[in-house]
Amino acid sequence: MNVPFMDLKAQYNIIKDEVTPRIEHIFENTAYVSGKGVAAFEQEFAMAHNVKYCSGVSSGTDGNHMVLWALGIGPGDEVIIPANTFIATAWGATLCGATPVFVDCNPVSYNLDPNKLEMAITPKTKAIVAVHLYGQPADMDSIQAVADKHNITVVEDCAQAHLSEYKGRKVGSLAKAASFSFYPGKNLGAFGEAGAVVTNDEALAATFKMMRDHGSEQKYTHKVFGHNYRMEELQGNVLSVKLKHLDSWTQKRRAAADTYRKNLQGINQIIVPEELPENKHVYHLFVIQVKTSNNDSENAHTREGLQRFLKDNNIASGLHYPIPLHLQPCFEYLGYQKGDLPVSETLAKQCLSLPMFPELTEAQIQYVCENIRNYFTT
Ligand SMILES: *Cc1c(COP(=O)(O)O)cnc(C)c1O
Repeated sequence: MNVPFMDLKAQYNIIKDEVTPRIEHIFENTAYVSGKGVAAFEQEFAMAHNVKYCSGVSSGTDGNHMVLWALGIGPGDEVIIPANTFIATAWGATLCGATPVFVDCNPVSYNLDPNKLEMAITPKTKAIVAVHLYGQPADMDSIQAVADKHNITVVEDCAQAHLSEYKGRKVGSLAKAASFSFYPGKNLGAFGEAGAVVTNDEALAATFKMMRDHGSEQKYTHKVFGHNYRMEELQGNVLSVKLKHLDSWTQKRRAAADTYRKNLQGINQIIVPEELPENKHVYHLFVIQVKTSNNDSENAHTREGLQRFLKDNNIASGLHYPIPLHLQPCFEYLGYQKGDLPVSETLAKQCLSLPMFPELTEAQIQYVCENIRNYFTT
């Protein structure tokens, strides 16, 4: 058996008949950027996340930047970022000229630990970026409570969490503004690069629309600073077609996670991800941990060993993420040391992402789990 990490071709086959005429229509009409398809998708996506305003942008990274830029974050400001996330969460702050301040994560949810926020806040702290990592929402009420006390704005990075829910509310609607990524491998993926920013704040939404289009509402009148962060019409159309399937794809991811959990029971060398009761997890990734405390030199049962064993049995896996942000070479100037954010550092050493995509079959999951069990018993 062969188990890939994800399978974009399977999704293409599902939407091919619907999406092909739309693509031809774009080519025929030669309206390639920010056309009717993008506008329609923006409305549909805002509805799906129960927010008033959505602006399609060129990528999730660009969305992260635009959210903080539109909020006026700049040089001299500090922005709190979880240490365990993809680097693009931090680029939002650095592109604004602000300083990222990294905070450790909770060992169960893997998300920003609200108990560790307070000690990272200074008079310069202007924003907190809450990431819903791997598809599980962060503890937004606790984060917001600390933020309110210090008059700090909270924003969300929803790049891995389309349609996920916290206390019955959709992510993207939980803070001042949020960004999404539609990178092909994300739960909702474009045919190239794309992203979106959402908010319920009318003035902020108007700024987003200007900023992504060179700071202008009216052509050649540039009211504010901006950039070219527009979404391509091709992506708007593809995303519109795919969005209709997202609920069912999400259910399939959740079912796959259940099957994993059932089949991984009783392997005590690993930790299986937990879904907190207040959350609806959408399993962008299914990340287990291989406990380093079980590394015995005799049998050498390590994460790297398991990853090799899986590869030898045609099972793909990944590491999300092997180096926490505070220890990345590009952030050396901030002066963090090993041991500063221990939960993130342990997670970086222990994490292992198993194959996860809607079309993953029960037999494939069983095969993955059997191999994990075999690895630790031989
Ligand atoms: C993918 C990702 C991004 C960046 O999105 P792009 O569309 O690839 O630029 C930002 N934050 C997180 C947490 C991500 O996983």
